[in-house]
Amino acid sequence: MRNILLSFALLAGIACGETAAHLYPQTDAFKQSLAKAQGRDLTLTDYHIHIRGGMTPDKAAQRQEQSGIRSAVLENFGREWPLSNNVALASFIDTCSKARANGQPLPIGIQVNDRDWYTQIDPALLKRLDYVLADTMIMGVTAEGKPRRLWFPTVTIDDPEAWMKEYFAHNLRILDEPISILANPTYLPPCISNRYDQLWTEPRMRQLIEKAVAKGVALEVQAGSAYPKPAFLRLAKSLGAKFSFGSNNFDDKTKDPSRWFEAIEQLNLLPVDLALPKKPSSSTPHS
Ligand SMILES: [Zn+2]
Repeated sequence: MRNILLSFALLAGIACGETAAHLYPQTDAFKQSLAKAQGRDLTLTDYHIHIRGGMTPDKAAQRQEQSGIRSAVLENFGREWPLSNNVALASFIDTCSKARANGQPLPIGIQVNDRDWYTQIDPALLKRLDYVLADTMIMGVTAEGKPRRLWFPTVTIDDPEAWMKEYFAHNLRILDEPISILANPTYLPPCISNRYDQLWTEPRMRQLIEKAVAKGVALEVQAGSAYPKPAFLRLAKSLGAKFSFGSNNFDDKTKDPSRWFEAIEQLNLLPVDLALPKKPSSSTPHS
C-alpha cells in the first residue's frame, strides 16, 4: 500500500511539472547562468559525482542529457571505503562503463583517501580510469589509530600555527601523488575555519598553486563549499591554474551549482582555464 501511495505521489509530482531529484530544476536562474557559461564557450563537467546514496551512473547520464552539464562519476577508493580493493574497483568500473550520455560513456574516476593508494591499485585498472581526485581532508590518526577525518566536529586543534605547518606539508605531498584534481582546496577543519586568512597566507597559497600548475593538477570549485576562498581563486587564476567543477553528493539529489557560476563570472573563466583532467598514467607518484 505504501508503495502504491509513493508511486502515486511521484506521478502526481511529475504531472505537476516537478523535476526528479537527480535532475537540475530548470529555474530561470539556472537556465540564465548556464546560458551565460555557454556564451563563454564553456563546456562544464561535474567531476565529483559520487555513485552512492541512490546515485547511479544512469542517473548521472540522464542529468547530463537534461542539463548539458557533463557528468563524470567516481567513488571513494581506500581502506574502509566502498572501493577497498581491486575486485571492487574493477566491478565499479565495469558498472559505470555501461552508462551512456548523449551516446558516449561517462568519464570514470576515483577519489583516493589513503596516501599509498597508487601502490595498491592494479596498474591495468588505473589505466581504465579517466581521472583521480583527492582532497586533503584526512590527516594524522585518532586515539583509536584510525585516519583522522578533519571534517568531524570532534576534531580539536591546540596550536593552529603548528598544525598548519604540518597540514601544508600534507597538501604538498598530495600534489606529489599522480592525481588529476585537488578537491576542496584550502579546506580547514570547523574548529579553525575562522582563521583562514591567518593560516592560508599568500606565500602558502602561492606555493600550493604553483605546484598544482607545475604538476598539471586541476583545482576544484565545489558546489556548496566555502573553500577555496575568493583570494585563493583569484591568485590561482593569475598563476595560470586550471579549474574543475564538482558536486560531492551524498545522495542522488542535485546540489546548488550557483558557486560554479559565480566563480566563472568573478574569475572571467574561459575554455582555456578549465581542466581536462589528465589520465593517471603511472602507478608511481610524480617527483
Ligand atoms: Zn567526494
